[in-house]
Amino acid sequence: MSASLLGKASDKGLLSFGVHDLRDWTYDRHRTVDDTPYGGGPGMVMKPSPWGEALDDVLTPSARLVVPTPSGRPFTQAVAAEMAAGDHLVFACGRYEGIDSRVMRHYAPLVRVDEVSIGDYVLAGGEVAVLVMIEAISRLVPGVLGNFESVTDDSFAPGRMETLVEGPVFTKPRDWRGQAVPDVLMSGHHGRIARWRRDEAFRRTAALRPDLLARLDPAGLDKHDRKL
Ligand code: SAM
Repeated sequence: MSASLLGKASDKGLLSFGVHDLRDWTYDRHRTVDDTPYGGGPGMVMKPSPWGEALDDVLTPSARLVVPTPSGRPFTQAVAAEMAAGDHLVFACGRYEGIDSRVMRHYAPLVRVDEVSIGDYVLAGGEVAVLVMIEAISRLVPGVLGNFESVTDDSFAPGRMETLVEGPVFTKPRDWRGQAVPDVLMSGHHGRIARWRRDEAFRRTAALRPDLLARLDPAGLDKHDRKL
């Protein structure tokens, strides 16, 4: 978190990060944070007591508690934007089979609790999922990106790109290994370039993400989109 975009943003005071070790809220010799699951079965479950003490210390009244879990609601660009508007996010990274459910239920009346998944696969722990979320959220905080326009043109950006992925992008040289950059990008005609980019976004979404295209809001289409 001290590297690249996040590092620069925290140097500028736009963001600040704290990392806590759950074992600091344990009292036994082995600093135990897990125990066997009630009802039996394989694996271990994270104990509620260290989590409760840690969260009592770390949470503030305006904080939002974000719990990564494969069983959560999907983490999307819209969720990232919603989280970027908050002023304090506390991420509770699970390990083993996850955190005792009573922890989330305990905090729900006190702060906003969000159980979120970064995709339909299972990681070994929440830390990597949280890094993914932190990066996606941070670049939506004003001032973090040099060029904020790139956010509004991105795949999934709220508005005209909400259910579209971005089309192909190119840079110099104009010819590379027998492949030329599309002529339209060299035309200097902003209207035509914008139209081409939008058409390509539709093509790529249709080819790779038909699920997104099915969710397209017809009200957001212009008359040229309808011809595609
Ligand atoms: N038993 C859990 C289940 O089947 O839903 C999986 C637990 S996983 C091995 C351990 C931890 O990794 C979770 O508590 C969560 O913090 C994190 N994790 C794993 N996959 C994730 C995903 N797709 N999204 C967010 N967090 C994930």
